[in-house]
Amino acid sequence: MAASTKTNLSISSVHDDHSQYKATWTQRAWFASGCATVLISLAKSMLILTAGAPTVPRTLLHLTMAAILGYLLADLSTGIYHWAIDNYGSAETPVFGAQIESFRAHHQYPSEISKFETAGITYIMAGVLTVAFLPVNLFSNDPIFLWFVGVLTGFVLFTLKIHAWSHTPRRKLPPVVAALQDAGVFLRWSQHTAHHRPPFNSSYCVMSGIWNRVLDEYKVLLGLEVALFRVTGVKPRSWSEPISEWKPMTQDEQPVRN
Ligand SMILES: [Zn+2]
Ligand SMILES: [Zn+2]
Repeated sequence: MAASTKTNLSISSVHDDHSQYKATWTQRAWFASGCATVLISLAKSMLILTAGAPTVPRTLLHLTMAAILGYLLADLSTGIYHWAIDNYGSAETPVFGAQIESFRAHHQYPSEISKFETAGITYIMAGVLTVAFLPVNLFSNDPIFLWFVGVLTGFVLFTLKIHAWSHTPRRKLPPVVAALQDAGVFLRWSQHTAHHRPPFNSSYCVMSGIWNRVLDEYKVLLGLEVALFRVTGVKPRSWSEPISEWKPMTQDEQPVRN
């Protein structure tokens, strides 16, 4: 996958080349493989359930609990991933270098993310999910576990798209997305502004944002940064790097009702 990681949002070329908003065919192929991985989990779970004994209320309860757990873990895991990408590594880091550069560029030009084709911002996560979870799908025959994996990987796959919607003017959002933002299922503009304000070291969760309060109030990620520094001697970017060029979200991104 590293060979295909053409950087979509490079710091120097943004605004200059509008073709960069389009995904490459390689990126679309990885996105398709990620979608297939999610669908295989969900479909295999349903096939096993429908082929077996009649579904009882207890099974429905387990499916519901698995879905809620998958949804919650998706926000937490992608929040920790976002924190790591924002604070560690460089454009030269294998596999993730392109995404590290893209995330840094996102802080310079926050609204640009809303202009990208979905495959162009999700393909790295799609590749990681395919490699990590396609074998799980093939070998597991537990319908509840497969349902959990399907929900988890589905929300993880689309986290950056959901993040992009929080930067999109409300008039341009599909009505169902606006409704899901209003319901608190997806991240809203008002929940995401803190991440784009100095000192740029909070509110890393960008799927539903449910975990931001816990992680920020209890300084969980700061604790991780201190522990990593003590073990490896590596400082996170948010401690030392000048970030004066990073910009807040613009008024144009502010939805009417948020
Ligand atoms: Zn960030
Ligand atoms: Zn953002």
